[in-house]
Amino acid sequence: MSVTEPCSYHPTKAARFHCPKCEANFCPECISRRQTEVYGSPREFFFCPKCNVHAEVLSVGSFIAPFWNRLPKFFAYPLHLRPLLLILLLSSVGVFLSWLPFVNLLLWVVLIKYCYAVLRNTVSGNLRPPELSYQVLGQDVGQAFKQIALFIIIGGAQALIFFYMGAGVGLLSLFFGILLIPAMIIVLVISDSLIDALNPVAFVTIAYRIGWGYLLMYLFLALLYGAPVFLAENFSSFMSPVLRRFLFLAASQYYTVISYSLMGYVILQYHEQIGYEVSAEDFLDQALVLQGESASSDTKPDATAAILNQVSILMKEGRAEDAILVMRESMRGGTAGRVLAERYYNLLKITQRESELLNHGRSYLDLLVAENDKAVACQIYRECLSLNPQFIPNPDALFKIAGWCLEDGDAKNGWNAFVRFIKANPQHGLVPKAYFLLGKNAKEKLHDEARAEKAFKSLIKLFPEHDLAVHARSYLQKMNRIGST
Ligand SMILES: [Zn+2]
Ligand SMILES: [Zn+2]
Repeated sequence: MSVTEPCSYHPTKAARFHCPKCEANFCPECISRRQTEVYGSPREFFFCPKCNVHAEVLSVGSFIAPFWNRLPKFFAYPLHLRPLLLILLLSSVGVFLSWLPFVNLLLWVVLIKYCYAVLRNTVSGNLRPPELSYQVLGQDVGQAFKQIALFIIIGGAQALIFFYMGAGVGLLSLFFGILLIPAMIIVLVISDSLIDALNPVAFVTIAYRIGWGYLLMYLFLALLYGAPVFLAENFSSFMSPVLRRFLFLAASQYYTVISYSLMGYVILQYHEQIGYEVSAEDFLDQALVLQGESASSDTKPDATAAILNQVSILMKEGRAEDAILVMRESMRGGTAGRVLAERYYNLLKITQRESELLNHGRSYLDLLVAENDKAVACQIYRECLSLNPQFIPNPDALFKIAGWCLEDGDAKNGWNAFVRFIKANPQHGLVPKAYFLLGKNAKEKLHDEARAEKAFKSLIKLFPEHDLAVHARSYLQKMNRIGST
């Protein structure tokens, strides 16, 4: 019997992948995904975040809850509005229109048709009851007739055995017949062939492969079918015949819906043992519904979260080198967002990779400046400078940071940043403005008129035609320094 294995990194989450190399299990959040074109259509491949080898997708049966752990959910299934409406409708028709010819057969066909859709939905991992549409109830009635034919053949054979072989053999065969009906229905669903469903080799094999789980399912189903009979015998005397018939019909239909959803679930849970193809990969989203019984939006982590997860796994394993490799790879192309850039920066900081840190610091600062995050940008700038006084960000970022440092009251770094900006990028269009801001700040914030004068005069000298030169002159006039040159 399959047991749900947890993710090696999230003990509360069921593993969906297994690495053949390191034997670790991963949940969808932890696995590395890669999109690749296969014959022109994109396909997702899964890799071990630690070993970078192809991870095995665990079979659906290994990560869904076994059916015996969710029995109450099977009871709740027909109480969903869709099947409930159908049950009420069919039972009412069965009570009030039963004098019409073939009404009971027709009701049975509709119910079986719907139950077949229940089973199909469940097998594909969809635990919501199917809609009450023409498509579900009216089309392809052959499916329902095959099942009804199956019941008629079994019933007929049973009658013949009783008639020709006597009660002893008859009861024995009745016992095995009822025991094996679910297996026959499962074979019918899998093969869509009435002949296969009646072939003892096929249905006994199925029952045998499911093993104890099959017996458990059978016991459960037997109790289910016994219940309406028990109810009818014990409580019917208090009721009017109409009500009695209505409740009996509704109860049998209720249990029929349950039994089909249960059989569908058993096929799903044992699909590997019975050789029924359920694509675990198509299942990635639905199966989580099976697990938690509710779809959550975080089932498919975005690329950033996946990378962060991989990095944290590698760090937990003490493999900083590999974590940095992953981060470096993710930075390639320059499309990585701020979150990744920040993680990469911190990673380089803890592992003291100075030159890579300074290198990355430059693009990280570009990102921070683009996002107008003044405080963090200034802090990162100072950190990089303290590591290496020669550190110099890209020109536009440096210009902004210089202004922000001054704004922030960090006159020393602000001043230096402007000076370094001018020195490193003498041809940059913002150089005149840098001179002007230097002068203005020296005058107004530092009250250092000598420095202010020097900056303004450089501006006037180097860019006499620039708009800001006019302002620089008026500052100099105010400071009475214009004549002293
Ligand atoms: Zn591995
Ligand atoms: Zn995980």
